[in-house]
Amino acid sequence: MPRRRLAAALLAGIATLLPTFIALPAAAELLVLKSRWLFDGASSSLSSPGLVVVDGNRIIGVGPGAAIPPGARTIDLGEATLCPGFMDAHTHLCHERTEDWKQDELDQFKKLIPQESLEASVFTRKTLMAGFTTCRDLGANDLVDVALRNAINKGVIVGPRMLVPDAIRRAVRLNDKFGADVIKTCATGGVLSLTDAVDTPQLTQAELDALVDEAHALGKKTAAHAHGAEGAKRAIRAGIDSIEHGSFLDDEALRLMKEHGTVLIPTLMAHQGVKEMMAANTTMPQAVRQKAEAAGAALSQTMRRAIDMGVLIGLGTDAGVYQHGRNPEEF
Ligand SMILES: [Zn+2]
Repeated sequence: MPRRRLAAALLAGIATLLPTFIALPAAAELLVLKSRWLFDGASSSLSSPGLVVVDGNRIIGVGPGAAIPPGARTIDLGEATLCPGFMDAHTHLCHERTEDWKQDELDQFKKLIPQESLEASVFTRKTLMAGFTTCRDLGANDLVDVALRNAINKGVIVGPRMLVPDAIRRAVRLNDKFGADVIKTCATGGVLSLTDAVDTPQLTQAELDALVDEAHALGKKTAAHAHGAEGAKRAIRAGIDSIEHGSFLDDEALRLMKEHGTVLIPTLMAHQGVKEMMAANTTMPQAVRQKAEAAGAALSQTMRRAIDMGVLIGLGTDAGVYQHGRNPEEF
């Protein structure tokens, strides 16, 4: 099957299945999901027929040889291909950038928290329907991400399994107390912010050492937003688990990542989203445009070198910088 058609089939399979999974109450009947093909993620080929046996909210059998319990109801999905849900390691499920940069900035201060939460529940649904069943949320205000995660876990709203962080050095323990799963920090400036340079470091080596040490002591993974090489290197030396974006990483940074096993999450869709925003957006300041262009141009070079050097690469899309539900375009 041509690759594009395969991808479309995989996504269609998931999209068909998800509402079924979500609607299952804890003590639901036994279900068998049957389709023409199955990709289990462990083998590199498809198997047929695709069978997934579900007991309540647990999958108890997968593959052509899965035992079918007596009395199970079969849902035949025809030609669809079943596959495991995708994971997005870098999303912002609590907001979505629009074509009006100024309004977006204003909303960060003025939008009511309940409104933000209600809108976010639409984004979590769209993301799940796009085939993503697990998302790490790397940046939200007012602990809306924690509330979303809790509401999804309780079955109150529909969405992917969420891992939520937040971050500044002194806040590691506070975030842990409020239930963060991941600690995210900003080791360098950003693209969509107005006043900081995109590639300069924003934390000292000692601060990053303390942050990672504290987070790891609490059993939490860490992620560093880093466009510039110097900030990234400090984070990598501190033992950070992933570098987000990594636009201007130099060879030394990539070598350090390879040595430490640090994962690069390049968020290529963020650049696609920003490109589209620049084309449509009349209020985006010139300073932001210049940063976006520089980071976008550097990242394609960095990606090539990272792949050549064998740096571990994770899939994360920066969803929210573009419209939620378009996550699969990162592939
Ligand atoms: Zn982001």
